[in-house]
Amino acid sequence: MWFPVDASGWVRRARQVVSPNCDARPPRTPITLLVIHSISLPPGHFGGDHVLRLFTNTLDPTAYPGYAELAQQQVSAHFLIRRDGELIQFVSCLQRAWHAGVSRWRGRPHCNAFSIGIELEGGDDAPFEEAQYDVLIALANTLCATYPIRAVTGHSHIAPGRKTDPGPHFDWARLRDHIPDCPNGMGSG
Ligand SMILES: [Zn+2]
Repeated sequence: MWFPVDASGWVRRARQVVSPNCDARPPRTPITLLVIHSISLPPGHFGGDHVLRLFTNTLDPTAYPGYAELAQQQVSAHFLIRRDGELIQFVSCLQRAWHAGVSRWRGRPHCNAFSIGIELEGGDDAPFEEAQYDVLIALANTLCATYPIRAVTGHSHIAPGRKTDPGPHFDWARLRDHIPDCPNGMGSG
């Protein structure tokens, strides 16, 4: 499995759902980090379109408790991998998606500037699906071959105390075994 990225930063094999929640990366800022997240909306519920709505600012604030606050946030990620392995892209890899918030990677703040954010549909309480790992590993290897990515980390590692995703079920050892071209560490680094 391979997910070629075109010159404009889009993976043509992904389903495209364009998010307005992005802007330009700062000048001379190479993409050096992958950030793994997990998300499900409502929390713990899989399927449906609420994550897509969140990332496109069309979430119904009355649909579920907590959505009123969520619907006011402008957030996105570059990619979402659904439970069945479907790959959705919201933001060009060349643009800055708004996924990490206040964050720091080995002392360097503002991780959105130099990272690609990949969401797995899931949560802290459930293992991820085989199909999700298959697509994640293939996507990560493609991105590592396309951009000068040096490390793969989790949202919880770059925003400790504030974020827990991708959570305790995420299998970092499996990533380590299958992404050989990532020289500077994985997980917490
Ligand atoms: Zn996250």
